[in-house]
Amino acid sequence: MEARIVKQIKKIVGQENVLSNIEDRICYSYDGTFKRGIPDIVVFPGNTEQVVHLVKFANIEKLSVFPRGAGTGLSGGSIPQDGGIALVLTRMNKIKEINNQDLLAVVEPGVITGHLHEEVEKQGLFYPPDPASLKTCTMGGNVAENAGGPRAFKYGVTKDYILGMKVVTPTGELMHVGGRTVKNVTGYDLTRLLTGSEGTLGIITEITIRLLPKPKEKKTALVIFNTLEDAATTVTAIICEGVIPATLELMDKITINCVEKNIKMGLPLDAEAILLIEVDGSEVQVIEEIAIIEKVCRKNLCRDVQVASLPEDRERLWKARRAVSSAIVQLKPTKISEDATVPRSQIPEMVRRLRGISEKYKLHLPVFGHAGDGNLHPNILADKNDPEEMERVEKAVAEIFQAALDLGGTLSGEHGIGLMKKPYLEWELGEVGLKYLKAIKSAVDPNNILNPGKVF
Ligand SMILES: Cc1cc2nc3c(=O)[nH]c(=O)nc-3n(C[C@H](O)[C@H](O)[C@H](O)COP(=O)(O)OP(=O)(O)OC[C@H]3O[C@@H](n4cnc5c(N)ncnc54)[C@H](O)[C@@H]3O)c2cc1C
Repeated sequence: MEARIVKQIKKIVGQENVLSNIEDRICYSYDGTFKRGIPDIVVFPGNTEQVVHLVKFANIEKLSVFPRGAGTGLSGGSIPQDGGIALVLTRMNKIKEINNQDLLAVVEPGVITGHLHEEVEKQGLFYPPDPASLKTCTMGGNVAENAGGPRAFKYGVTKDYILGMKVVTPTGELMHVGGRTVKNVTGYDLTRLLTGSEGTLGIITEITIRLLPKPKEKKTALVIFNTLEDAATTVTAIICEGVIPATLELMDKITINCVEKNIKMGLPLDAEAILLIEVDGSEVQVIEEIAIIEKVCRKNLCRDVQVASLPEDRERLWKARRAVSSAIVQLKPTKISEDATVPRSQIPEMVRRLRGISEKYKLHLPVFGHAGDGNLHPNILADKNDPEEMERVEKAVAEIFQAALDLGGTLSGEHGIGLMKKPYLEWELGEVGLKYLKAIKSAVDPNNILNPGKVF
């Protein structure tokens, strides 16, 4: 990058908030995928005004800008694949307001999601979206990806909690979308358009989120099954009983074995599947719901049900679920995390098809995820240095997407399209849908400055 450009960027954000040597830049070349791209410079703005200046300058110099939170994304969304500026928003990490009358909070994009949970819960409030990466990922990244998580089953995903935002447009203008009210139908719904826009339509510099009162009680059940099919059928059977648990997570045998090897918590190594089910609400409600769930699980041939009520016992069960991502990489070094999602009723069929794909391409394909909302996470473990294996992976991934679409589902339930899924976007949106998306992008970003090459 030319010295005069580096000098100007340092002038905008301060010398101490710029990284330009190669070792530092490499640290910002990755995310949670195996994609890589080294930025020409890494910049940490401290406020919205600095973001405005940077984006205006990038338009003048025709420099690409890649917004970035914590870099935990699973679709390659923050990768600066053609150099340019990595714009890291982690310095903007203040919780500006928690308001228990209007049931909302105002946060900067660099706030860590788990930290926000702790702060609102201290005041008896509740922010439901809970990506499994919540201890590291940022609110800006969550909004840009429209992140989900285990609790999405009952409570919905990030977009259901975004009331308004401050956004810097791709040409460097400041825009306010939405507001502080739950109801707002003024103009097109730009809040929804920007939520899930994967850093391609604007840089989010402030977020107003909706909060709920914190549920009073919780109970968690770990349910063990002898067949994956019985576990998958149980998911739909629970829903048919009219119970909507807060979470309903599935882990298959490969996943159980990897987790047990890593954290040794006594999971049964011969079980074919586990469901982790949590209910929340009033004391009466959780007792009633967990009893119904236990009955349905036993009717659907589960081997055992363990119920935890105390916070430390529930936390022990959740530790298993949170350990999954790091545990499965012991199978092979390259993890391709998919999140193709199907209507809930199709989970048993999707599980059958995933098994078939794994056998056909002779690949490790552990299945886990948010079974309650049809958002399974088939992960393929391979070695990116083995071209023959990677060819099989590519074919398997295409078949997974095709299976999800055939069953009335979608390419991505929560990880976004980014770099990883863009070759398949037209399968779901069709030619006209894709043209519509591209028209929006070129209207707001005529110089193609913001996160170019992502989504399509
Ligand atoms: C172990 C693990 C578990 C995970 N579990 C889940 C899960 O349960 N549910 C789920 O949904 N995801 C999950 N993820 C994926 C990931 O954590 C989420 O997509 C998260 O929202 C990304 O946040 P981040 O701060 O890391 O964003 P990054 O990875 O840095 O960026 C993600 C995208 O957001 C854009 N972006 C970031 N900040 C801004 C901003 N301020 N303005 C505009 N665009 C911005 C980037 O350009 C990029 O396109 C998981 C990831 C890992 C590694």
